[in-house]
Amino acid sequence: MATNRLVCRECHRVNDPDNDTCDSCNSSSLTEDWAGYVVIAHPESSEIAREMQVTEPGAYALKVR
Ligand SMILES: [Zn+2]
Repeated sequence: MATNRLVCRECHRVNDPDNDTCDSCNSSSLTEDWAGYVVIAHPESSEIAREMQVTEPGAYALKVR
């Protein structure tokens, strides 16, 4: 994975590099400046998901600058 994926500043969702808006919340506030890749498969039973207020399974960034 050499491409810089984009992370949404609103919901921390990891989006494809060619996305203009977030797959999850449709925000156009996407950034390449992020760290910590986490995949949340079962948000309902995940403490990280609860802390990040994630309700949908998917890939998220822990830190967005
Ligand atoms: Zn989003």
